[in-house]
Amino acid sequence: MRNEIWEWTGFNAMEPRVAERGDVGDGQVEVRIRAIGICGTDLHIMSGHANFAEPPLPLGHELAGVVERIGAGVTSWRIGDRVCIDPLTGCGKCGECLSGNKHRCPDSGEFGLQYPGGWQQYMIVPSANVYGLPDSISFAEATQAETLHCCLGGIDKLNIRIGEHAAVVGDGPTGLYFVQLLKAAGAGKVSLIGMRESRLQLGLALGADEAVNVSGASMQAPDAESQDIVIDAAGSESSLALCVNLLKRGGRLLLFGLPGKPISADVQTVVLKELSLLGTTNAPRVWPRVIRMMASGQVQVKPLLTHTYRFEEMDQAIEFARSQSDEAVKIIVSLEEDQEDEGGPR
Ligand SMILES: [Zn+2]
Ligand SMILES: [Zn+2]
Repeated sequence: MRNEIWEWTGFNAMEPRVAERGDVGDGQVEVRIRAIGICGTDLHIMSGHANFAEPPLPLGHELAGVVERIGAGVTSWRIGDRVCIDPLTGCGKCGECLSGNKHRCPDSGEFGLQYPGGWQQYMIVPSANVYGLPDSISFAEATQAETLHCCLGGIDKLNIRIGEHAAVVGDGPTGLYFVQLLKAAGAGKVSLIGMRESRLQLGLALGADEAVNVSGASMQAPDAESQDIVIDAAGSESSLALCVNLLKRGGRLLLFGLPGKPISADVQTVVLKELSLLGTTNAPRVWPRVIRMMASGQVQVKPLLTHTYRFEEMDQAIEFARSQSDEAVKIIVSLEEDQEDEGGPR
């Protein structure tokens, strides 16, 4: 049985390849991939800047599809179930895994980062790594459950009280998700701070009360010491400095964006303002809530899905993502149109 794959092969390079579909082991399911989200992390890995990944490797960790085959001992899924994939794995035996924090497992890893990801037509994963989707959520939207679950895990850590003032620094997809989650969590005024006008306008449409463009010389950020909560969804030295400046005394700062290298921080101000700094990555336990929020419309994904490519055009999708076009918020690679072409029994 044939499986078409796109593999990262070296510095900013990728190749299509055809492989055999593997056997589905005990406790595993095979998912026929229907949609793939392109993430900044994919570009980061392809440029060789991630020290955790080695080519050749199919990337792709924002994934949704249909259960195609089921391994022995799997009772929770049926062929044809619509699912999204949690790409994170742990050993399943250590204290962190057993307490629902597999992202802190010493042996944790991710499909599409260290292990083969979803740039394939068919992908085999542990059955515990898939979550069912209601019909109201499209496959393209469902790819964003992965990103959203990271954001929601961070929001949980902030213990937001109704009416608190919050600012998000960074107008990428995660910044736009954070705006929506802050509003859903009861924040009062939410300010989005970024450098791209079209993204800031989208942030306003998605519920931000204020959008501030800090590009160029005329930096007009909100007042210093005006925010109870600030989220750094950019991850740079300048964004961190802005976050520290914006926070009230006693405020909470969620550190989400990855600088990729050590950066300086004004620790003296952090101490004197008694700020709480919270790092956050994955949050395995929040996946069901993310899907519920997407289904109920509390979080909107569709307005962020600006561009769609076909699976055969994966290299073009990546090239376009790398061009950092302002209007490209989230690029989706869809495998849905080819459904009729395949024919025959599956
Ligand atoms: Zn990602
Ligand atoms: Zn473990």
